Amino acid sequence: MARTQRTDARMTSSLPGVGDATTSESLYRRACELLPGGVSSPVRAFRAVGGVPRFIRRGAGAYVDDVDGNRYLDLVMSWGPLILGHAHPAVVEAITAAARRGTSFGAPSPIEVELAQHVVDTFPSIELVRFVNSGTEAVMSALRLARAATGRTRIIKCEGCYHGHTDAMLAAAGSGVASLGLPDSPGVPPGGVVDTLLVPFNDLGAVERLFVEYPDTIGAVIIEPVAGNMGVIPPVPGFLEGLRAVTTAHGTLLIFDEVMTGWRVGPRGAQGAFGIEPDLTCLGKVVGGGLPAAAFGGRRELMEQLAPTGPVYQAGTLSGNPVAMAAGLATLTCLEDGMPWKAAAAWAEHACSLIEAEAKRAGRAVAVQRMGTMFTVFFTGGPVQDFRDAKATDHEAYALWFHRMLRAGVFFPPSPYEAAFTSAAHGERELDVLERALRNAFA
Ligand code: PLP
Repeated sequence: MARTQRTDARMTSSLPGVGDATTSESLYRRACELLPGGVSSPVRAFRAVGGVPRFIRRGAGAYVDDVDGNRYLDLVMSWGPLILGHAHPAVVEAITAAARRGTSFGAPSPIEVELAQHVVDTFPSIELVRFVNSGTEAVMSALRLARAATGRTRIIKCEGCYHGHTDAMLAAAGSGVASLGLPDSPGVPPGGVVDTLLVPFNDLGAVERLFVEYPDTIGAVIIEPVAGNMGVIPPVPGFLEGLRAVTTAHGTLLIFDEVMTGWRVGPRGAQGAFGIEPDLTCLGKVVGGGLPAAAFGGRRELMEQLAPTGPVYQAGTLSGNPVAMAAGLATLTCLEDGMPWKAAAAWAEHACSLIEAEAKRAGRAVAVQRMGTMFTVFFTGGPVQDFRDAKATDHEAYALWFHRMLRAGVFFPPSPYEAAFTSAAHGERELDVLERALRNAFA
C-alpha cells in the first residue's frame, strides 16, 4: 500500500504505549457529577465493554492521545467523519480561515454553494441539497418531506438500523440504543412510533408483505444501504435492487441514510457502489469534515417542496454554518482525486486480513465484515446478515478483545454493534502497530 502522509511528526514519532488511566478515571468521576453518565453521547461511556472511558486530549493523523499520556492508534475516528485523519492540515487551515472571517452569519454564504456543488457532483440522485447540523436532523427532515410529498404517514425501517434519535426512528434502533440493551426509549410516545413498520435487514420478502398489508399508506422506506449501526452488514445481492423496485411500484420514496456510508463504503457512497438511485439521501459525518454539519437531498421537484419554495417547514439557526461548511469543503476537496479513499479502504482490507489471520491462528471464530473504509469484528462463526445475527454474537468476547487491544494501544469502537473506521492517515506503520497489538489479543 502507498505510504500515506503524516500530519504531525511529533505524534507519530513514537509508538502507541498504554499505561494507567488515572486521570481519565478522575475526570470521568467528575464528569459523572456534571453530565448524565459522564458523557455527551451514550456509547462513549464504555457501558458495552466496561471500564473507564478514555478522555482524549488531542488527535493527529491516525492517533489520539489521552489525558494520561497514552497514545492509541484510532479506529473510531470520531465515528466516521475523519476520513483524512485527525487534524488534517488542509481542514484545520480551512476552519481557521473561515473562523477568522466570522463564525456564523444567519445568512447565506458562498462556501455553502461550493459545498452543495460537491454534493450534487458526487451523487447523481441529488439535484438540490439542504444543509442541517446533524444526521438526526437530516433524517427527521427527510422523513417529513417524504410524508408530505406522498401524503402517506407510514415509514418502513430495518431492525438494527440507526437513523438518529428522532422519535419515529427509535424503534428497534441499533448503535447506542442496542449497546445499552434498550428495546426502545422511554419518553417516545406510542404515537411517535405507531407509523414505523419494522423489517429485518436483508429481508425483501418482509418488505413486500408490508406493502400488501398496508396498501397506499407507506410514504417511505428508509435504510442504511450498508448497515453500520449493528456492526457492518452489507446488503445481500438483490436486496437494494428489490427495495428500489418495490418502492417505485408502490409510489413510495426510497431514502438512503448515507450519514455513515457516504464517502465511506465508496467514493460515491453506497448508491455509487451498488448503482442504485434513491429518491432522497441523508448525509452527515464526512460531509462536515469533523464539524457539526449534515445534509439531505434529492430530485429538484421533491426538494422544492421545502420552505421557502414549498410548504414543508424546515429550518436551522446554524444550518450551513460557514466554519462547518469550510471543514466539509476542505475534506471533500482532498477526497476528490480518489486517492485518500483508496488508501483508507486498502488499509481497512489489510487490517481485516491481519485480524482474520490472527484469529485463525488462535483458533477463534470471527466474522470480519468490511465494506470500503469501515469494518466490524463479530465474534461468531457465521456471516452476520441482520440484527438477530448481530445480537447472537459473543459480546463478552468482544469486550475482552476490545480491552486487550486498548491496552496494546489500539482504540476499537467500545461496542460490538459499531463499525471501525479507517482514514487516509493509516499507513504501513499503523499496520505494524495493529499487527503487534493483535498478538495474544484473541488468546
Ligand atoms: N444515520 C446514521 C446512519 C448514523 O450512523 C447516524 C449516527 O451515527 C445518524 C443517522 C445520526 O447522526 P448524528 O449522530 O449526527 O445525529
